[in-house]
Amino acid sequence: MSNGKGYNGRVFITHPHWDHLQGFPFFKPFYDSENSFRIYMPPNGDMGCQEILQGHMSKTFFPVSMDMLEADINCITTDPDPIDFGTYQVEYMWAGHTVPTAIYKLTAGETTIVYAPDNEIMIGDGEDVYDFRKEFVEFVEGADILMHDSQYNREEYKDRIGWGHSAWEEVVKLAEKANVKRLCLIHHDPDKDDDILDGVNAKIQKDFASKFEHISLAKEGQVISIDPPCPFLALV
Ligand SMILES: [Zn+2]
Ligand SMILES: [Zn+2]
Repeated sequence: MSNGKGYNGRVFITHPHWDHLQGFPFFKPFYDSENSFRIYMPPNGDMGCQEILQGHMSKTFFPVSMDMLEADINCITTDPDPIDFGTYQVEYMWAGHTVPTAIYKLTAGETTIVYAPDNEIMIGDGEDVYDFRKEFVEFVEGADILMHDSQYNREEYKDRIGWGHSAWEEVVKLAEKANVKRLCLIHHDPDKDDDILDGVNAKIQKDFASKFEHISLAKEGQVISIDPPCPFLALV
């Protein structure tokens, strides 16, 4: 959102794995002194948002350090509790992943968007599995859009338990149970090409299109409209 001079934005980072931070040092608005940003991230061990990003941009990895960015940047380490930004609120629950990772929920009026790029929905009979699935269903209940990790299918998942990613069949199952309206399956396996993903999407359309207002594997350039529109922010 504009503050009259430059841009004034908020960026919510789920966790600092490379695939989520790769673009951070190259984001041009960070190099304009007219702009200001607030960056939010959960803690990782005893490190907060500032220390994590500073480590990512230390001289070993990149010639520009955090303090050389020209925009006014403030790093904020967050806990899961809701933060009220006036026109919208943001909260998170802890994901099932290999490092502390947020599943963000943005609520703007009656509209709810949940973003879970890295989350393992475990399968099994254990109490921890049951509790996590229950907490997840409650957290995403009625979401207007759920964007969720679907890196594997059930067959592939069997050999990748504990890797921190989900089988798409489990995501669809829990999303349906939670009355999610629009489901966008994201974080595709980098080893799968477009033909494979198109095949999965075709199967999903055939079997599950009637269960949701929208369901698809996300692809570049895709736009899903909701009403009322959501205020600008970035989730990575
Ligand atoms: Zn990750
Ligand atoms: Zn990831």
